[in-house]
Amino acid sequence: MTTITDLEAPEARDVRRLAEELEIRTGAWIDGAYAEAASSETFAKINPATGVEIAQVAAGDTEDVDRAVRGARAAFESGVWSRSAPRQRKKVLTRFAALIEDHADELALLETIDMGKPIRDARRVDVPLAAQCIAYYGEAVDKVYDEVAPTDPSAVVMIRREPLGVVGAVVPWNFPLMMASWKIGPALATGNSVVLKPAEQSPLTALRVAELGAEAGLPDGVLQVVPGFGETAGQAIGRHPDVDMITFTGSTEVGKLFLRYSGESNMKRVALECGGKSPHVVLEDCGDLEAAAQAVAWGVFYNQGEVCNAGSRLLVHESVREALLERVVAVAGKIRPGDPLDPKTRMGAIVDDRQLERVLGYIETGRSEGAELHLGGSRVLEETGGYFVEPTIFDAVSNEMTIAREEIFGPVLSTISFTDDAEALAIANDTIYGLAAAVWTSDVTKAHRWGRDLRAGVVWVNTFDAGDITSPFGGFKQSGFGRDKSIHALEKFTDLKAIWINVG
Ligand code: NAD
Repeated sequence: MTTITDLEAPEARDVRRLAEELEIRTGAWIDGAYAEAASSETFAKINPATGVEIAQVAAGDTEDVDRAVRGARAAFESGVWSRSAPRQRKKVLTRFAALIEDHADELALLETIDMGKPIRDARRVDVPLAAQCIAYYGEAVDKVYDEVAPTDPSAVVMIRREPLGVVGAVVPWNFPLMMASWKIGPALATGNSVVLKPAEQSPLTALRVAELGAEAGLPDGVLQVVPGFGETAGQAIGRHPDVDMITFTGSTEVGKLFLRYSGESNMKRVALECGGKSPHVVLEDCGDLEAAAQAVAWGVFYNQGEVCNAGSRLLVHESVREALLERVVAVAGKIRPGDPLDPKTRMGAIVDDRQLERVLGYIETGRSEGAELHLGGSRVLEETGGYFVEPTIFDAVSNEMTIAREEIFGPVLSTISFTDDAEALAIANDTIYGLAAAVWTSDVTKAHRWGRDLRAGVVWVNTFDAGDITSPFGGFKQSGFGRDKSIHALEKFTDLKAIWINVG
């Protein structure tokens, strides 16, 4: 098969042809093989850029989750992975990462037809970062030491980190492969077995990657993938008495359900990466309005605005508001929605018709609550059958309006102006969320002060959405708890055990 990288300057038609040649895996991956759902039920997977069905995927439910957990438990108890030498796990995970890279074109194409993101981003960002994440945890795991407690010399107390057992990973559709890799990388590296449930909107890359994991040498049962709906398969994992931990990324609403599932079942550990309504603050002394405008526009329009940490609230000092907005509109003008399979496209399709209606509903609410529509505001390219929304900017927004309080998860920017920095800080922090925040200033003291005072898990100064695998990611407040990425992610997939040995 020709690959995207074989083509010097791939044209949309070449990429579309490659997409048509894709072989799509549709079964659950359990104990090293694809399987139909026990009920034989399937669900339609629609390409959001065309509205056309591309596959029928196994609709996993309680029985399938049960089977997957049993297999994962058996693998864990056998010790084939959980008690293997860290360097052995490193070897397999490094190979796994290399296989993801080798299949980067295929995975990027799957991601694009599955959830509508531009092929350019899937190929350059999502797939390479997923591979990098798996490799990072593989490489890390034989460099982490346990501890010996500084007790009285009559004892040797080893403080060991042990894997938890069976980890349920439930992930969203906006960065399907990347979110899955943030979970399975550290969970597998520490010796756990994983039952992964991709979002029903975007199961395709997870199903393919499971097979690559097996090819890399993951023993059967160590990585299971059960596609299906949240209320059925997701809930079954959340309530399963033999799942030791849930690592979840998704909405705050569903995150709270997982806390309930845990409390009503076996008190499994829960780590949550939930929603956001991130403030992107531009102070009067912002040194570079051009750079800030680029960051503001890409910070909310990238990935169709379907980004948990999207800078969806622009807080701008009144004195620079007009100049900044003019520049943001100019950048937004270059981010026109288009066919995600066209390598030139910078903004793709909204994931499904439900999300499309949700985004358009918020735009309507913004208008009716008195915000001024400054740019966009409409569904576009309807003739394609796909779900496209143009970059949309509201001005004259107050922080009390619905569009400033609720996560829209679409390409909609709400502009709030201020004249006083203290007032801006209060507005920035006046949200139930605390995933990320950013501030633009040329004053180093202010940069530090805002870095300290913004209540968010990640704060950017004079940039937006910067990060790499070495930097922890996760939220304060109702954006969740627990951190993905970085060496700290290893902690939550292990339990501390103190072994007290009396040496007299
Ligand atoms: P969602 O909460 O609807 O779904 C996430 C996952 O939970 C899916 O796999 C879904 O099937 C499952 N689920 C849904 N209902 C469930 C239920 N009743 N019981 C058990 N499982 C259930 O979120 P989404 O719409 O897929 O994704 C968008 C959300 O994800 C946004 O709120 C976004 O902010 C958040 N997100 C957060 C991060 C982060 O790192 N903090 C990253 C990406 C996305």
